[in-house]
Amino acid sequence: MDEFELIARYFTPLGAGGPAGEVGIGDDGAVLDLPVGERLVVVVDTLVEGVHFPPALAPADLGYRAVAVNLSDIAAMGAVPRYATLALTLPAAGADWLAAFSGGLRDALATAGTRLVGGDTTRGPLTITVQILGGLCGPALRRAGAVAGDLVCVSGTVGDAAAGLALVGTRPADPHAAWLLARFTRPTPRLALGQALRPLAHAAIDVSDGLVADLGHIMAASGCGAEIELDALPLSAALLEHCGPEQAQQHALAGGDDYELACAVPPAALAAVQAAAAACGVALHVIGRVVDGRGVVCRDAGGRVVALPRRGYRHFT
Ligand code: ADP
Ligand code: MG
Repeated sequence: MDEFELIARYFTPLGAGGPAGEVGIGDDGAVLDLPVGERLVVVVDTLVEGVHFPPALAPADLGYRAVAVNLSDIAAMGAVPRYATLALTLPAAGADWLAAFSGGLRDALATAGTRLVGGDTTRGPLTITVQILGGLCGPALRRAGAVAGDLVCVSGTVGDAAAGLALVGTRPADPHAAWLLARFTRPTPRLALGQALRPLAHAAIDVSDGLVADLGHIMAASGCGAEIELDALPLSAALLEHCGPEQAQQHALAGGDDYELACAVPPAALAAVQAAAAACGVALHVIGRVVDGRGVVCRDAGGRVVALPRRGYRHFT
C-alpha cells in the first residue's frame, strides 16, 4: 500500500459530506468556508509515542484521543469546531493499525460534527499532529481576564485520567478501573460548556497538564493568584475507590489529561454558569477564589497550606 492508497482508503472517507464547492482532501490545499460572521480559531496538538502516550495505547484510542485533545482546546476558547487536519508520521503502513486508528479518528470527529479536510503522511517514529479549525462570533474565552474575587470552578471530576494512564495496556474487569482507563483513552471535550461559559466566565483553560499547573496559567495571564480548597476538589467515586483519598487528591492536583474546563467566574454569574453547565449535562464545582497576588495556593480543611506536587509536565527542562 503506497501513501496515496493509504490516504484514499483510511482518510479520504473522513472528509465526506462537505458542501458542493468545498475543496478537501485530494488537492494541494483545502478551501473552506466559515459561517458568515465567524472568526477563525486554530488549535494544534502533537502526540509523540512514548512522550504523550504509552506504546500500549490501542490505535483506535490513539486516533480518538488525538482529535479529542484538540477539541478540548477549541472548547477552552469557547469556539465551535468546524474542520480538522491530520499530519501522521508512522513507522509502517499496517492495514489493521490504520483501520483502527482511522476508526477512532472518525468517531471523535463525529462527536463534534467535524470533517477531515487535509493532512500529510510520512514515515518515521509514530507521531500524530491534529489541527482543528474552529469558528467564533464575538470575543473568545481567554486565559487572561480573571480578577480578584472571582470564583475558581472546574467541570466534572479531576485526577481520573492520571489513574487511567497507569492502566493503559490492561483490560480491567473492575468497572471503576475500566471507567478510569476510559477517562484517559476517550476524553470528553467540554465543547457545549465552553460555548456556554464564553459570555459568562472571565477566563478559562482546559485541564491538560494538571489542575494546579493549568490554574497557574490562568493566574499568570490574568496577573492574579488563586486559593483553592483541598476538600472542594471534585473526585470521582471510581478514583477514590481505586486509589484512596490521598493519592486521589494528588492526582486531582497534579495529574493531567482530564480535559475538563477550569474557569474564573464572577460571583454574580455563578447561578447562570451552573445552570448552563447543568444544561450541558456536566457539573461545575466551585473549588476556590481568585485573589490578589501570584500563584496557586491550596488549603486543607484547617486552613493549612498544602504542599503542592511538582508543576505540570514540561518538555524542555
Ligand atoms: P502534497 O504532495 O501536495 O503535499 P500529499 O501527497 O501530501 O500532497 O497529500 C495529498 C492530499 O492528501 C492532500 O490533499 C492532503 O491534504 C491529503 N492528505 C495527506 N495525508 C493525509 C492524512 N493523513 N489525512 C488527511 N489528508 C491527508
Ligand atoms: Mg502539493
